[in-house]
Amino acid sequence: MVQRVAIIGAGSSGLVSIKCCLDEGLEPTCFEQSHDIGGLWRFTEAGRICVYRSVITNTSKEMMCFSDFPFPEDFPNYMNHSRLLEYFRMYAKHFSLLSYIHFKTTVHSVRKRPDFSTTGQWDVVTETDGTVESAVFDAVMVCSGHYAEPHLPLDSFPGIENRFRGQYLHSWEYKDSASFQGKRVLVLGVGNSGGDIAVEISRVAAQVFLSTRSGTWVISRISDHGFPFDMMLTTRFHNCLENFLPSALMRWLRLKKFNTWFDHANYGLIPQKSLIVNDELPSCILSGTVVVKPNVEEFMESSAVFEDGTVEENIDMVVFATGYTFSFPFLEESVRNNCRSKYTLYKYIFPPPLEKPTLAVLGLIALTGSIMAGTEVQARWVTRVFKGLNQLPPASRLMAEVAKNKIKTSYIGYMDEIASCVGVKPNVLLLFLKDPKLALEVFFGPCTPCQYRLAGPGKWVGARNTILTQWHRAVKPLRTRKFFLMSNLNLPCCILSPLFLVLTSVAKENNLSPPLYDNLVHT
Ligand code: NAP
Repeated sequence: MVQRVAIIGAGSSGLVSIKCCLDEGLEPTCFEQSHDIGGLWRFTEAGRICVYRSVITNTSKEMMCFSDFPFPEDFPNYMNHSRLLEYFRMYAKHFSLLSYIHFKTTVHSVRKRPDFSTTGQWDVVTETDGTVESAVFDAVMVCSGHYAEPHLPLDSFPGIENRFRGQYLHSWEYKDSASFQGKRVLVLGVGNSGGDIAVEISRVAAQVFLSTRSGTWVISRISDHGFPFDMMLTTRFHNCLENFLPSALMRWLRLKKFNTWFDHANYGLIPQKSLIVNDELPSCILSGTVVVKPNVEEFMESSAVFEDGTVEENIDMVVFATGYTFSFPFLEESVRNNCRSKYTLYKYIFPPPLEKPTLAVLGLIALTGSIMAGTEVQARWVTRVFKGLNQLPPASRLMAEVAKNKIKTSYIGYMDEIASCVGVKPNVLLLFLKDPKLALEVFFGPCTPCQYRLAGPGKWVGARNTILTQWHRAVKPLRTRKFFLMSNLNLPCCILSPLFLVLTSVAKENNLSPPLYDNLVHT
């Protein structure tokens, strides 16, 4: 019977794991090697892997919140790292999570105990301020993140180490653009980091080149009518279309939509598969401050030779925005081998051949939506599996399922799959009969994490209202200026308003009361 759970890491996955353990009556102990919560999202000047200073989230607040704790309505839809960290602090405080975290504590090893096949227990060795301790845990949740190590493929770039005289760095070392002033900079890789960094550096550099092997779709955070794109696109209605319409038609529609903003072929970005969120990259390309190039063939003393035979001279700095790899050095080798890739984990969570399902890896997923929301539903399921309330299928079926893992997983598909395991997937048809107003929002509106709190274990009474007020929360931080909008007025108002304006201007000229329209609110 699982009771004591070790949680490794106090980033967003670690925090939500503590909360889920508490919800299921388990005893969590979280080990965090730094002195604070927030993981990657806690910006620090140097010394650890974290976001860069200017980073802005690329999922909106309604889509990325924890399912029973919406962001405050006045928070912006997309936010910088300090706002997100503030939210994590509010969450930790609200659910009293901090007392379960051992800060400045590094996990050295996680090993099966000799009687693991019967108990499923683990020996966890930690170090705090030079003091090494060992403790027995019934289960382990690995929440140390999958951006643990920079991927720096120097071997793929002949000359970078021994010929090139400029400076090179990996994007994890990038904090801001200060040291790039007036330089000619080459950014390698066009993931979200590469796109953001190229744009930011282009404001101060003499020239930025952005090299990509395979191109990418670039989408804006802003969708139709200025709403966040993920609130508009990540809906059950769209998901149904994706599932039922022929894939060639869906692909054609998607390409048409993506190319409406700008033609990716004209901008040298025609992609094979990936997609990034960036509001400014097309404008930088259009104005020539960022020039898109193919992959680099080799580096000379001060130049880069590209695969199309072109050469860019006088390159001062190269930024490898080539992504990250994950590693779990603390896991014993046999277990580590089963976690070597997300594709070897059952539903991207459980290493399949363990005799007892008492170890889970959280957040190791590539979703087409919020990873935070995905991690939370994982943690809800994992803690129920630990508790014995949900069962995993037999080992042979686990292995067969693992073989089916896909590279990028559909957000709603994955959320619903794990939610079904927990018993919290909303029954939309039933909802149409019982509560049509809510059902309409659940089906046609954004598939927010709160949808998984409407029914079943962990049901939250605030979920319905949170869903029905989501558009209000999206608009609230935008309407920071009161004004008078003619187009929204009805006919009597249109007739009366010229009279109103004449009267107020006469009042103004005669130094009477301040114009009333200062207090009118856009409705
Ligand atoms: P990434 O998404 O893994 O992208 C790495 C890029 O490097 C890819 O374009 C890849 O090209 C390229 N690359 C990798 N190996 C290469 C090689 N040997 N030669 C040339 N190019 C190579 O990494 P990332 O952009 O650092 O992002 C990491 C994670 O953080 C992602 O999940 C991302 O969404 C997230 N992130 C979020 C934000 C935000 O919220 N605003 C900002 C930054 C990052 P190919 O496509 O050709 O393989």
